[in-house]
Amino acid sequence: MHLIPLPALADNYIWLLHDDRGNAAVVDPGDAAVVEHALAARRLQLRAILLTHHHPDHVGGALALRERHAVPVYAPVDARIEATTVALTDGSWVELASPQLRLQVIAIPGHTRSHIAYAGDGLLLSGDTLFSLGCGRLFEGTPAQMLASLERLATLPPDTLVCAGHEYTAANGRFAHTIDPHNPALQARLQEVTGLRAQQLPTLPVELARERACNPFLRVDSEAVIDWCRQQGHAATDRVDRFAALRAAKDGFR
Ligand code: ZN
Ligand code: FE
Repeated sequence: MHLIPLPALADNYIWLLHDDRGNAAVVDPGDAAVVEHALAARRLQLRAILLTHHHPDHVGGALALRERHAVPVYAPVDARIEATTVALTDGSWVELASPQLRLQVIAIPGHTRSHIAYAGDGLLLSGDTLFSLGCGRLFEGTPAQMLASLERLATLPPDTLVCAGHEYTAANGRFAHTIDPHNPALQARLQEVTGLRAQQLPTLPVELARERACNPFLRVDSEAVIDWCRQQGHAATDRVDRFAALRAAKDGFR
C-alpha cells in the first residue's frame, strides 16, 4: 500500500492510499482538482472516499468526486455532510477490496461533535483531532470530550502511522516547546520538522509512539505539563483542567 499526503488548500493534506494495481482511496478531499490531478498523474482509479468530519476543507471535493467516479463516500452520521453514501458510527468497519483496507471507525468528538477517525492496517487517519505535536480546536465539544478522544487514539499500537488533516507541525512545535522545553524526544522531533519544512516536505505521517513522547496534549499527566500549569497559575490537580489550560493557551499562542 502506498500512502501519500496530497497538499491542498492552505495547509490541508488529502491522504491518498493506493495499491500497485492502480486502485485508490482518498481521505478528506477538500479540493477535487487536487485529487483528479494526482489520480491522472499516477494512473489510478478512485474506488472510495472517506471523510472524518463535516468541515468544508475536508469534504469540499467529495460530491464532485463521487459524481465523476461513482464511488462510495464513507462519513460519520451528520446531516451537514451532503456527499455521504455510507454513514458510520463508533465501532463500524470500513472494508475495501481494492485497495485492500480494513479500518475501524472510532468516534472522537471534540473538534466537531460527529468527528470520526479511521484506524487499521497500521494507519490512523485522525482528521482535525490529533495533529503532530498538537490537537484540533474545540468547536463543538468540551475539553473532557476532546481529552477522552485523544486518549482513545493514543491507545492504538505504538507503531501506528498518524495521518492528520493539516500540516500544522511547525507551529504546534513552537507551542509544545514552551510547555516541555527539556524533553529530548520533542527536541529531536523539532529538529527533524525544521529540516523537513526547509525542503517543503511533509512532517507526516509520524509514528504514534513519537507523539506520545512529544505531544503535550497526550502528556497531561507529565511533570512538565503539571509544572507549566502551576507556573501559569492554573489549577493543576485535575487532568481535564490541565488539558483545558493547554488548549486555551494554544488558542491564544502566536
Ligand atoms: Zn476541521
Ligand atoms: Fe481542517
